[in-house]
Amino acid sequence: MGPFISPDQVGSLSSPSYNPFVSTPAAPPSALSYTDAALIVKQTAATLLASSSLQQQNVPLLDALGRVLASPVTADRDQPPFRRATRDGFACRAADVHAPMKVVGRIRAGDPAALATPPVSPGEAVEIMTGAPVPEGADCVLMVEHITERPSSDGSPATILLDSSRAAQAGDNIVPSGAEARRGAMILETGTRLAANHIGAAAACGYSELPVYLRSQVAVLATGDELVELSQPILPYHIRNSNSYSLAAQIALAGGEPHRLPIAKDDKKNIEAAIRVALSDDLVLLSGGVSAGRFDFVEEVLLSIGAEFLFTGVLIQPGRPLVFGRIPHQAGHRYFFGLPGNPVSTLVTFALFVRPVIEALAGVASPGHEAPRFVQARLAAPLEVKPGLTRFLPANLRNLPPFESEVATIPWQGSGDLASTAKANCYLVIPPERGSMAAGETVSVLLD
Ligand code: AMP
Ligand code: MG
Repeated sequence: MGPFISPDQVGSLSSPSYNPFVSTPAAPPSALSYTDAALIVKQTAATLLASSSLQQQNVPLLDALGRVLASPVTADRDQPPFRRATRDGFACRAADVHAPMKVVGRIRAGDPAALATPPVSPGEAVEIMTGAPVPEGADCVLMVEHITERPSSDGSPATILLDSSRAAQAGDNIVPSGAEARRGAMILETGTRLAANHIGAAAACGYSELPVYLRSQVAVLATGDELVELSQPILPYHIRNSNSYSLAAQIALAGGEPHRLPIAKDDKKNIEAAIRVALSDDLVLLSGGVSAGRFDFVEEVLLSIGAEFLFTGVLIQPGRPLVFGRIPHQAGHRYFFGLPGNPVSTLVTFALFVRPVIEALAGVASPGHEAPRFVQARLAAPLEVKPGLTRFLPANLRNLPPFESEVATIPWQGSGDLASTAKANCYLVIPPERGSMAAGETVSVLLD
């Protein structure tokens, strides 16, 4: 047996000097709790992120959606570049609003003359549109909805009067120039996974292209004598290799580039040869063959080629047989996951454990956005389970108007039931100590 980390070593993970790979082939490893396994993955991901030397490329702004930013985006000018009116109305002095004010001009957004408007004097107001620069002298903008305008009959300027139920203060409805961002300020940090808000912010700073990291390459290797590819004829004893597709989809969403390798038969030589091919990628995902069955050879083969295991088994359902470790490769190592073959186990263990590693390999460092993502919701109906495992049950999250969410499990036949899971949009989390949960309880939900 190779060196294993034991559950009591996990407690020292927060120590920076902790190295789970050193020593101790001693006791046979037992399955870790979800929390301990998640901590090991998180720690490994942080190490990978810190030690990565990612290459980058420039891509057109919209092609950067979903990619990871490779250098900071900074403001090319103050935002806003002038004192901006945030309402349609009248720019004036807050001290003057108790008496009628003379309307001496009009400023539209984008008017080239707007910045040359003469200063507003006491008792004067300038009609102004949302997004236009507030003229010198004015210190507030009164909303058009809050004033009464009196046109003049003799050609003299119209006047406005603020409704008596309203008050005004200096600064009302004005964003000072540079208040959102100063020229040169950091707008997006390196490592940001680019979503629509980031693309918009980069556009506002004048970036028509963005530097992004190259995607990390992730090998997907399905093992199993019963498996056939979609292009092959199917016989009654065959199972379609759906895991390679669900994994490839999850990898792409996580920011990696999937490489689907040909199916490996349940034969040690085949599996070894396929793993050696997979090692040319940045991360290796194996599917199937990690349980206790007579033909589950994956762990044995991994050990025979020098793999070190971080864990072999996690106390979760689905996904208990999951293994995680690394294989010596060239000057360093390649990390691998051996995912249980049951299709729902594969989906869940990816979301919980693989995604954080792919995100680290992809250079993602956006705080608060990292996987796995959990939210809270109200449980729709009571549940009973046997305690001892952290469960992630396929479920549906739906809005409970106005601002709450409710989650309900879907009926399923267990971790092989992909057809039912295709009707779910999340996984309901049941902590290991809970044997029953009541309707209306606040529960955690795993997204993705
Ligand atoms: P295993 O983990 O190899 O013991 O497989 C557990 C279950 O998952 C069995 O019912 C397999 O047929 C099924 N399975 C294994 N690999 C795949 C795959 N690539 N696609 C779909 N089902 C699979
Ligand atoms: Mg199998």
